[in-house]
Amino acid sequence: MSVNIGRILGIPIRIHWTLWLVFLLIAWSLAVGYLPATYPRLSATLDWIVGAVSALLLFVSVLVHELSHSYIAKKNGLPIARITLFFFGGVSEMTEEPRDAALEVRMAAAGPLTSFAIAGLLGAIWYVGRLTGFPDAVIAVLGYNALINAALGAFNLIPAFPLDGGRVLRGTLWQSSKNLLKATRNATRVSEILSLIMIAAGLLLVVTTADFVNGIWIIFLGWFIRSGAETSLRQTQMTEALHGVSVGNIMTRNLLTVTPDLTVQQLVNDYFLVHPHGGYPVVQNDKLQGVVTMGSVRSIPREKREFETVAQAMVPYERIVTINSTASAAEAMQKMAKNQIGRLVVTEGDRILGIVTRGDLMKTIRTRQDLGVSDTTFR
Ligand SMILES: [Zn+2]
Repeated sequence: MSVNIGRILGIPIRIHWTLWLVFLLIAWSLAVGYLPATYPRLSATLDWIVGAVSALLLFVSVLVHELSHSYIAKKNGLPIARITLFFFGGVSEMTEEPRDAALEVRMAAAGPLTSFAIAGLLGAIWYVGRLTGFPDAVIAVLGYNALINAALGAFNLIPAFPLDGGRVLRGTLWQSSKNLLKATRNATRVSEILSLIMIAAGLLLVVTTADFVNGIWIIFLGWFIRSGAETSLRQTQMTEALHGVSVGNIMTRNLLTVTPDLTVQQLVNDYFLVHPHGGYPVVQNDKLQGVVTMGSVRSIPREKREFETVAQAMVPYERIVTINSTASAAEAMQKMAKNQIGRLVVTEGDRILGIVTRGDLMKTIRTRQDLGVSDTTFR
């Protein structure tokens, strides 16, 4: 779906396939609509060249906008997994949320400020160019990109998640209330109201003026903001429900373990068909060797299960993801999400203490949300 195009500031930059579509769309709409209307002296060929160059420059601007978020994040020790450019613009994928309100505000505000700075710079060159007689084509590229960057900055300042403005709002509320959950809840409420207004405005536009393109675009943006806000709220609620809970509190101890010399068929007969677990740690001489799951069994063809051993089927120790029992449950949740797995082996050195699953986390979150427990310490 996405192609890697290199690294900047050590961050992998990727391009999503929808970007090519948008590139054509923007170049086309400029070449046949905006440019002939604004710069009638340009030839049709020049219209297309200016359209393509402007679209390209727009993507570079979006990338610089994203890099500004990433720069602040990295400088403050927050890892950025990658930046992906797609049809809505860019996303910087953070593997962790900011730890304090002031950092969240600074990180979010950097993007729109960068867009305004680019707009100002291009606008200044455009102004000088008009006075000193730059060619029309150059003036057109500068003028369009100054405008679009100003629009990009303004759009991102709308105080709705997941836009930068929404993060600035949440960070500001968080700073004054010192309560992340309350701040997220209030910021989400603002986002929902804004998204409803956008959806209503889009519908009104379609119904009254039959302007389908802009109407559907606004409805789509409203829906995008709404679902982004809900996801963000749910994530914060889950993290907050796990507040004060450590992996040691919720892990399963006294695990059933298996030995590596067992055949896969024996494993199926004596363990998977008898006990309700989805995986077993493989242990020999008290040392963890790996983990064998239903998936490991499925990877061995049925006719080979009599001969192959657990040692051959298991995920070996080097590849299993472990966590310390003193780590927070929220950290376990992040680790599972990052590695796209459902269980972590809880270890102390190479000694296995237990296992913690996504199910354990979900059960804890549900219980604590049901009982309205959030700030007390879990025992
Ligand atoms: Zn941004």
